[in-house]
Amino acid sequence: MAGTDVLTPFRVLNGIHEASPTVISVRGRRLGNGHFGLIAGPCTVESRDQTLSSARAVAEAGATMLRGGAFKPRTSPYAFSGLGLEALEILREASDETGLPVVTELLDPRHVEEVAAIADVVQVGARNMQNYPLLVEVGRLDRPVLLKRGSSASVDELLNAAECVAKEGNERIILCERGIRTFERATRYTLDLGAVAALKQRTHLPVVVDPSHAAGERSLVLPLARAAAAVGADGIIVEVHPRPDEALCDGPQQLAAGEFRAFAAEIAAIASLLGKQIG
Ligand code: PEP
Ligand code: MN
Repeated sequence: MAGTDVLTPFRVLNGIHEASPTVISVRGRRLGNGHFGLIAGPCTVESRDQTLSSARAVAEAGATMLRGGAFKPRTSPYAFSGLGLEALEILREASDETGLPVVTELLDPRHVEEVAAIADVVQVGARNMQNYPLLVEVGRLDRPVLLKRGSSASVDELLNAAECVAKEGNERIILCERGIRTFERATRYTLDLGAVAALKQRTHLPVVVDPSHAAGERSLVLPLARAAAAVGADGIIVEVHPRPDEALCDGPQQLAAGEFRAFAAEIAAIASLLGKQIG
């Protein structure tokens, strides 16, 4: 048996693969196995007004979950890094008002209790995909985890990170392709649609795509999202801001709240061609 173990790197995930496709179900919203998730909201919680405006707009347009960062990993130490605990309270209010479950990032294991208290889905960001103590923390949570692929991580490394979470007992994992670093600079990152197809083949975990961070530019978000739905993703996570030009983070790539309805309708139409329904 020991020999077999060495040849089976995905001991828990392989077991999941043999069962039926994983469906993540939170507060009546489903993602996976024919249920397409439309996760939308601001990059970052900047204020109560900005977050509530975005949440109302995406809820009215049919989003299934609300995204928004309270703790932001920023490249520059001088950039706005989120409102932290205050942002969690704003997300709670936005969720209570709209009924949308909340997806938000856990950046630091020291905030695990506060984040899990309001997050319906706990996000592990691309920069932390191989932060093993953090993976262990979320693996012990009673919350689904949205695990983003590191910008320089292979599909195999992403699956190993997911295995780290699953090994701790939490098998409710959503994998997320958000673009990888290549020589190409026409987009902020290179959206790896091949990885989405490969992940769908290799695991029964749901796979979502983040076209916003991959594109880096608003006008490219819709075409990438269309492609994500067409390649077989189980959902998308997209940034929407009431006034993107005033955003404190990722302004150029955030959709304006007013354009989200048409965006959502188009993605829903493509998902339905593949036999999927929103939520
Ligand atoms: C985010 O989704 O808020 C984010 C920071 O994205 P990533 O971890 O993919 O860079
Ligand atoms: Mn962002």
